[in-house]
Amino acid sequence: MRALRLYTGNVVYGRLPQGCRLCLRGLKSVIFVTGLCPRRCFYCPISLERRGHDSFYANERPVGSVGELVAEVAAAGSRGAGLTGGDPLARLERTLEVIRALKESFGSGFHIHLYTSGELLSEQALDGLSRAGLDELRLHPEPADAARLLRLLERHRPPFSVGLEIPALPEAFEEALKLLELANTSEVVEFVNVNELEVTESNSAAMRRRGYELSEDGKTVRGSREVALRLVSAAESSGYGVSVHFCPASSKDAYQLRLRLYRRGVASARPHEMVSDEGTILKALVPEDCASVPSGLAFRGRLGLETSLLVAELLGARHSLVEELPDYRRTLLNVV
Ligand code: SF4
Repeated sequence: MRALRLYTGNVVYGRLPQGCRLCLRGLKSVIFVTGLCPRRCFYCPISLERRGHDSFYANERPVGSVGELVAEVAAAGSRGAGLTGGDPLARLERTLEVIRALKESFGSGFHIHLYTSGELLSEQALDGLSRAGLDELRLHPEPADAARLLRLLERHRPPFSVGLEIPALPEAFEEALKLLELANTSEVVEFVNVNELEVTESNSAAMRRRGYELSEDGKTVRGSREVALRLVSAAESSGYGVSVHFCPASSKDAYQLRLRLYRRGVASARPHEMVSDEGTILKALVPEDCASVPSGLAFRGRLGLETSLLVAELLGARHSLVEELPDYRRTLLNVV
């Protein structure tokens, strides 16, 4: 088996996990189940606003109920969801309710993956997740706890796929390699995702204290990418049976988020709104007393009277171009 480089910059040895396939096409909603987590990883990228708080979001939209969450997922036109946090298992009942609601609303083929630190994983949690219909479990364990967790999973034999998530720390290649070897000999682990370390507002001080430096892109840790690629090469040269996938930070912005926004734009655009290649919404704002646009082609917007850019240009109407993000609050980007 050879490792393949995808057009997104991701590198995969073996099979790309199903959750990642959908995510890279913008087909997954992101459900932030809670900001609570039993771990304190120095590289945790969660924003200070969310970290340690029991907040609940669907695609950046704060939600107060599972019903609101389902409405947001429908608006995004998603075919699956990734449950993250914090650690979703810190709110197990909420997590199970979310999985059940998504499966009931969108059908059994709606793919759900879940990230967990593993600290709270138990027979009872595995039973609940199995019954609720989880498709993929992604463990991000403390290296010293990984063997215990894999034994628990091997005893339980859950019906869903299991993968490991490994952060590519620049100085920890050997430790990561041991995790990879453990995953390769496990009877339950199907894939390992190796993630490039991102520098965020919330972790930058801890990264600096550790002596980490920023890469040229200004977003990732120097040396993280190289460690990740060495891990993929190690799996390839040893002919591992477990799949190994490197997910670069750049693919999150350029593909996962951008395509999700584009999709939400297409699903939520009003008749006079156009979705740009970047996934933003474009339309024309015309004066209230504009006589050149017929009433059937004019729409009431939050800034005033709107019509399509095509209509405004064809009819020669004086107008400004309005650009919005297709998020739940339609964030205004430009009026020019
Ligand atoms: S396990 Fe994940 S959410 Fe929890 S502290 Fe570590 S990186 Fe953050």
